[in-house]
Amino acid sequence: MEIPTGAEKQETHKGDAASPLDVLVLGSGPAGLAAALYAARADRAPLVLSGQEVGGQASLTNTIENYPGFPDGVPGAALGELFRKQAERFGARMELDSATGVDLRSWPFRVKTYSAEYLSRVLIIATGASPRKLAVPGEQELVGRGVSYCATCDGWFFKGKEVVVVGGGDSALEESLFLTRYATRVTIVHRRKELRAGKILLERAKRSPKVSFLYETVIDGIQGESAVDGVLVRNVRTGEQGAIRTQGVFIFIGQEPNSAIFRGQIEMDARGYVIVDAHMQTSIPGVFAAGEIADPIFRQVATSSGAGVVAAISAEHWLAEQEGERVLARPA
Ligand code: NAP
Repeated sequence: MEIPTGAEKQETHKGDAASPLDVLVLGSGPAGLAAALYAARADRAPLVLSGQEVGGQASLTNTIENYPGFPDGVPGAALGELFRKQAERFGARMELDSATGVDLRSWPFRVKTYSAEYLSRVLIIATGASPRKLAVPGEQELVGRGVSYCATCDGWFFKGKEVVVVGGGDSALEESLFLTRYATRVTIVHRRKELRAGKILLERAKRSPKVSFLYETVIDGIQGESAVDGVLVRNVRTGEQGAIRTQGVFIFIGQEPNSAIFRGQIEMDARGYVIVDAHMQTSIPGVFAAGEIADPIFRQVATSSGAGVVAAISAEHWLAEQEGERVLARPA
C-alpha cells in the first residue's frame, strides 16, 4: 500500500472553518510526535505545530540511555528525528510554528500562531515544560553570555573553562558529566545536603576528578559585565557569603509547564500542570494533553511518548463518537 505523503494530505486538510483539521497537536517532543504517529495511522492527517525545537527538550539531551530499545543509548536529537520521520511516514505534517493563543470555548477549537489561525476538532496539547529560572540578579542579563540551561547546546563554548552547575537532580548531574568533556572544572552547587539524583549518576559524578560539590549553598547573584565572571554564593546553614570565579553558570533546577496560553480555559493544578484523566482527557471534551505539560512526576521520554499514544487513541475514540460511529477496534 502506498502511504500518502504529508504534502498530499495537506491538500484535503486546510484547518479552516469549512474544513477543520481532525487533530491538531501542539508540540513536537516525545508526547506530541507519538500522538501524531498514532493519529496519522488512524488516517487523521494530524498537523503538528512543532514549537521552536522539533523533538522538544529531549532532543537537547546529549545521550538518552533509558529509552527502551537502545541498549547503547541514543542521542536525543537523533531520537527526535526518528520520531518525526515515523509520524510523517504515515501522513503527519509539521509546521515550525508555536501557538500564541487558543479559544477552547467554541468548537472546533481555534488556535492562533505567529503566522496563522487553525481550527481543529481535536486538540492534543503536548507543549511540555521549560527550564525553571533561578530568578537572581544577573541571570536574565547574562543568558547566552555564560548563563545556560542546556549543556548539550552550549557546553562546547566552555572548553578549557570552569563552570558552575546549579541543582541536585538527575538533570544537574547528567549535564555536569557532559560538561566534563569541555570544562576543566565543574562545581555543582546544591541548596541541600542530599542530592535528589539517582545512584548511577551520583556514582559517576563522584568518580569524575573534574566534578566537585558545594552543598547547602545557594546562588544570590551572577556577576559579569559582558560575560559571566563569577557567582555570589551563600551557605544556607551558616549564612556565610562568598564568591566563586567562573565563566559559566548552567542552571538545572527543574521545569515549569508551558501552559500559560491555556490558563482560565482548562483545569490546571496550582503549578500550572494541565489536569488529565487516565485517557489523557482534559476538563474540555475533545482536548487531550500528554507529556510534561500534564506530568510533574515521571517526565521520561518513555512515559511522555506513552502518554502521547494514549491521548491519540482516546482522541480517535472521541472523534469516532462525534461522527456517530461505533468504535469497533483500536487503531492498529
Ligand atoms: P528535579 O528532579 O525536580 O530536580 C531539581 C533540582 O533543583 C532539585 O535538586 C532541587 O532542589 C533544585 N532546585 C529547585 N528549585 C531551586 C531553586 N530555586 N534554587 C536552587 N535549587 C533549586 O529536576 P530535574 O533534575 O530536571 O529532573 C526532572 C525529572 O526528569 C526527574 O524525574 C528526573 O528523574 C528526570 N530525569 C531523568 C534523567 C535520567 O534518568 N537520566 C535525566 C534527567 C532528568 P531540592 O532537591 O532541594 O528540591
